[in-house]
Amino acid sequence: MANVLVYELDGKIYINLTNKCTNDCIFCLRKDKDDVKGQTLWLDDENCTAQDVIAQLNKYYPHPNPQPYGIQAQSSSLRSGASLCIPKGEGAVANEFTSCVNAGEGLNEVIFCGYGEPLLKLDVLKEVAKYIKEKYPQTKIRINTNGHANYVYKRDIVPELKGLIDTISVSLNGESSSEYDELSQPVFEGAYDEVKKFIKSCADNGFETVASVVEGYKGRHLNLAKCEQIATDLGAKFRVREWIKNGY
Ligand code: SF4
Repeated sequence: MANVLVYELDGKIYINLTNKCTNDCIFCLRKDKDDVKGQTLWLDDENCTAQDVIAQLNKYYPHPNPQPYGIQAQSSSLRSGASLCIPKGEGAVANEFTSCVNAGEGLNEVIFCGYGEPLLKLDVLKEVAKYIKEKYPQTKIRINTNGHANYVYKRDIVPELKGLIDTISVSLNGESSSEYDELSQPVFEGAYDEVKKFIKSCADNGFETVASVVEGYKGRHLNLAKCEQIATDLGAKFRVREWIKNGY
């Protein structure tokens, strides 16, 4: 079966670059399910290139009949409910993706998030994000990450994402190192401090930064006020994701 590198959920486009992760969270969706709404996210291999991802993006949103700016594309080429909104500028073309992106039906955002940690594929991620920003500059791009990348690469990779990524959502996952280790089961020691440093770097570098927690896993409750204070002190917004049995 072909690797599902690009998938759709609730009208948004997600990119699934890898199945590797430096955490093994007890609530990770992939422990319970092989697929997201029928889209199997286990990969046959870890060899995907940016071109592989872009090919799936283009397959998802083919450009069958690019139209010069100012010429209305046929409404029959649009997804149900989409309306045309052609970008201004010389040489701009309309296609199904840009139409959907501008149609306000939820396809204005691409998210790097799958059955693994996307920043473990940093070079591929940067190349794909650059492609999207060049082709569809109005599209917002978010990464959902465990925040371990600077530990993995032994450098601060956050500045490398400038101009490519709009929002970085980092899994804070708890109020303390011990809670983090219990919930996230990282493969290295000191992961919680690394996550907090990563969040701060994202905020310091001007990204919209979100620190998230998963609340209510099998009846377990976090100290949300304390987690929020930690997020705020690091310069991030705070997001509580209620645990849902099937993940969505
Ligand atoms: S960080 Fe994300 S992908 Fe990795 S184990 Fe946790 S929930 Fe799963």
